[in-house]
Amino acid sequence: MLAQRTSLFDSSGTATARAAAKVAAAAGRNIIDMTAGEIWIELAPTIREGAIDAINRGVNRYTDTIGMMELREALAWKVSLDTGMIWKAEEVSVTSGAKQALFNAAMVLLNPGDEVIIPAPYWTTFPAQVLIAGGVPVFVGTRSSGYVPRVDDIKAAVTERTRVIVVNTPGNPTGAVYDVETLIAIAQLVINRNLWIIFDECYGNFVYGHYTHHSIVSVAPEVRSRTIIVNSFSKSLALTGWRIGYLAGPKEVINAMKALQSHTTSNPNVIAQHAVLAHLQRDDGGYENKLRSQLTGARQVGLNVLSSMTRIPVPEAQGGFYFYLDLSGLLGPPPLTNGAKKTADDVVNTLLSEAGVAAVSGTAFGDTIGLRLSYGIPTEELETGLIRLVEVLDAWNDTTI
Ligand code: PLP
Repeated sequence: MLAQRTSLFDSSGTATARAAAKVAAAAGRNIIDMTAGEIWIELAPTIREGAIDAINRGVNRYTDTIGMMELREALAWKVSLDTGMIWKAEEVSVTSGAKQALFNAAMVLLNPGDEVIIPAPYWTTFPAQVLIAGGVPVFVGTRSSGYVPRVDDIKAAVTERTRVIVVNTPGNPTGAVYDVETLIAIAQLVINRNLWIIFDECYGNFVYGHYTHHSIVSVAPEVRSRTIIVNSFSKSLALTGWRIGYLAGPKEVINAMKALQSHTTSNPNVIAQHAVLAHLQRDDGGYENKLRSQLTGARQVGLNVLSSMTRIPVPEAQGGFYFYLDLSGLLGPPPLTNGAKKTADDVVNTLLSEAGVAAVSGTAFGDTIGLRLSYGIPTEELETGLIRLVEVLDAWNDTTI
């Protein structure tokens, strides 16, 4: 008999979708996998050299629990540049990916029963971690407002138990980028109601067209003492497997997280820390630019193909590296009950069986009629996969499957 807490979470929806794609590929099918939240590109030379150098120097010991001081200093400098205000190393902590940063935040901020407002569709891990920490996720729909929440809707969701508002911009899965007015209004609400903000900007390097990524502390500096900024090299340096993320926030929060992390994972992998430090010291922005231009190109190729869809609006794809499709043209509005109506899960199954395309169903993100496609894959594959996808979606009818 397992602990009751295990009923609060399941393996993440994106991991399940990836596993289904792998099974189909192992059975010999040609599968184009658009499920992954990672980017296909070679490793940054600075990262490679930094890691090799650390290994050649025989680095093998624990570091400080929340990261080497030189790395925290370099990150404090980076956050200072990103936000336009000075940050010190004592306000920064290095974690094993942003996932750990977010988990630490939930564990040190939430008391049992505290409510956390999460705009939906949401990245699956936000509510799972809130539940594990004993909190209660409260969702605010964003479908009718271009996937950026209306501040009035957030206000209406705030109760005496509310403790945190999660802001993820650009957002996973929708790619929506929060505008300055919304960020300022959220900051005001947070101050008026004495709340915290968890500000996840893991996709902040990737915004397109006229969209700009804004840090909430830059546009509303008064909210800095109530904000935990979460970021990661998983996306910005295509370094998912190396597991280096970080957060910036008030010193007391960092100290509490340090104590927590000292009983869980201790320091993030030391070689990966050295690699990221080398990158921060030596890189001239060239690799990030290359990554950005690769994604900009892939996004354009993808949008060209998707613009031929007849029943689904072309996604805006404002930021990140996902196309998020609104399937209401195929499935109708979201069902009010769990009736027999078809959902994005059925569309995902059909795409896998008929188009050989693996996608993530919006049900993983609290949206039964959304579909997420990652364009962080090789461009040729992307184009082929999307052509096959459009064909199947255009031919979709109620008897499909
Ligand atoms: N935050 C968001 C919004 C994400 O989409 C992800 C990963 O997909 C993460 C955080 C975690 O990234 P990592 O733990 O790899 O740094």
